Amino acid sequence: MDNMETEIHSPASLSTIESEVRSYCRVFPAEFCRGEGVFLYDTQGRRWYDFLSAAGSLNYGHNPPMLKSALLRYIESDGVTTSLDLHTRAKRSFLQALDEVILRPRGLDYKVQFCGPTGANAVEAALKLARKATGRQGVVAFSNSYHGMSTGAMSASASHRRRNETYLSANWVDFLPFEGFTGLPHEFDFVRKLLRTRGSGIAPPAAFIVEPVQGEGGVNIASPEWLAGLRELADELGAVLIFDEIQSGCGRSGRFFSFEHARVQPDIVCLSKSISGMGLPMSLLLLEPSLDVWSPGEHNGTFRGFNYAFVTATEALRHYWASEEFRTSLQARGAEIEAALHNWSRDYSRHLVRTSSQGLFAGIQLDCEATARAIQETCYETGLIIERCGADADTLKLLPPVVINREELDAALRILGDALARHCR
Ligand code: PLP
Repeated sequence: MDNMETEIHSPASLSTIESEVRSYCRVFPAEFCRGEGVFLYDTQGRRWYDFLSAAGSLNYGHNPPMLKSALLRYIESDGVTTSLDLHTRAKRSFLQALDEVILRPRGLDYKVQFCGPTGANAVEAALKLARKATGRQGVVAFSNSYHGMSTGAMSASASHRRRNETYLSANWVDFLPFEGFTGLPHEFDFVRKLLRTRGSGIAPPAAFIVEPVQGEGGVNIASPEWLAGLRELADELGAVLIFDEIQSGCGRSGRFFSFEHARVQPDIVCLSKSISGMGLPMSLLLLEPSLDVWSPGEHNGTFRGFNYAFVTATEALRHYWASEEFRTSLQARGAEIEAALHNWSRDYSRHLVRTSSQGLFAGIQLDCEATARAIQETCYETGLIIERCGADADTLKLLPPVVINREELDAALRILGDALARHCR
C-alpha cells in the first residue's frame, strides 16, 4: 500500500495537480520529509546541507530544539492559536523580549506594528504609512530591488526576473541606481542631483525603500557611506527612510539588523522571514514613534496575531540573541565564508566575476547563467541545496543557517568548492 501510494502520488505525478507557477521544486525535485538543524532529508533517506533556508526564513535551521519544545509546550497547554490584535500572553512575551534583547541594547526606540504574515504585507503597510505620514504619493526604490509579489511591493521592485509591467501600478515609483549599479564614479551625486533639482521629473518622495543587502538582486551590499547619504537625503527632503530587512535581518548579516554595520538608523524597518525563528509566518514593522499616525484599524489583517509564531520568536530572541557565544559564532562563521570566497576568487578568476558577503549572506557571481546552473546542479547531486539570484540568475546565493557550526560549514563549503572546481577550472 505504501509503495502504491508512493508510486501514484510521486512528486512527478503531483505536478499535474500543482500549478505551473511552482519553481523551487523544479530545481530541487526531491520529496523532503524531515529537517533537522542544517540538514534536509528526503523520503529516500538522502541528506542535504540546506543553504536555501527557505529563502532566509529558517536562519536558525530546521526545528531548533529549544524553539520546538517551547511550541509543543504551548500547544499542549491549549495556548491561543490566532488572535487578530487581541492582547495575549504570547504577544506580550514577544514584545518584551524584542524590547529587552534587541531594541534597548541597540538604543533603538521603535514602536511595533504587526502585519499580515508575509514580507510583502509588511512592505505594503510601510509604503502606505509613509504616504499617510507625508501626504505624498511617490516612492523611490532602487535598481535590482525585490520587495515582494503583491501589487504595491512588486511595483517597487526592479527585479528583472520577478517584475512584470502588466500587473503593476508603478507610476508612483521612481527607480534610482543602487550603489555600484552604473559602475560610474560619483553615482550618488547623480541621485542627489535628481532629487534636489526641480524639473528632474522626480518629486520629493513619501519614502525611500531599500534593502541594505539586496538578496534577490544578487547579494549587493550597500556601504555605510551610501546608506548614510540616503539617510541625509531623506531628512533633507522630509521623506521616510524604509529599510527592508526581510531577508537581510535576524542575524543573516552577522548582526541582528544589517543596518547595524552602517550605524544608520531608518524610520521604518520591515521584518519577516526569520523573525518567528522557526519558519512560522510572521511579519512586522518597526516604526519611529512619530510616524505612528494610524487610526485604529486603519490597516488591518486577520493573521496579525499568530501566537505560535510569537512563542517561537520569543524563544529565538531569548535563546540566541541574549547569548554572547552565539553572537561571537556569527562573526567567526562570517569570516570563514569570506575566506572561502577569497580563495575561490583567486583560484577561479576566469569564471568568477564577483563575490560578496556580509556575515552569513554571500553571493558568488559566475560568468553566465549556465555555469551557475551547472554548479547548482552538481551541488544538489552531491549534498548541498543552494539558490541562484541576480538579474541574470548567474549568482549563487549562500544562505546557510546562521547556527551552523564550524565542521558543518567546512563540509558544506567543501561540496561547493568541489563543484566550483569541476565547472570553473
Ligand atoms: N523583501 C525582501 C527583501 C525579500 O527577500 C522578500 C522575499 O523574498 C520579500 C520582501 C517578500 O516576502 P514574502 O515572500 O514573504 O512576501
